Amino acid sequence: MFTVSRQFSFCYGHRLLNHPGKCANLHGHNAKVSIVLRHNTLNEQGMIADFGDIKKSIGLWIETRLDHRLILETHDPLIPVLKDQGLLIFPLPAEPTAENLAKLLYEETEKTGLPVCSVTFWETEHCSAEYRA
Ligand SMILES: [Zn+2]
Repeated sequence: MFTVSRQFSFCYGHRLLNHPGKCANLHGHNAKVSIVLRHNTLNEQGMIADFGDIKKSIGLWIETRLDHRLILETHDPLIPVLKDQGLLIFPLPAEPTAENLAKLLYEETEKTGLPVCSVTFWETEHCSAEYRA
């Protein structure tokens, strides 16, 4: 069994609607993501996937859909207000926690056809969540 991983970084803002503490306020993070791919065999180039192709697929998706966006739960009442101001929103049908963002990135990587094994999402340098099927 072979595995490879590719890391990406991006900035985002969010808030957690049901959080009893300070995370209920809008704030931002510098996120780091590790996408791990796994496969039993290698292709004719001796790879699971070209690192450049990982960047061009899920890396580009992160850059165009999440980077410098506000990731908010779809029912957050701030969404229409912020959209009216021209801000870029990524609505998520779940609280935008590290756990749910790891799951989102796992599912989006899966859609690209890459053999994703797990996604680890660091909300801060010390706090991470992992999603694997
Ligand atoms: Zn946060």
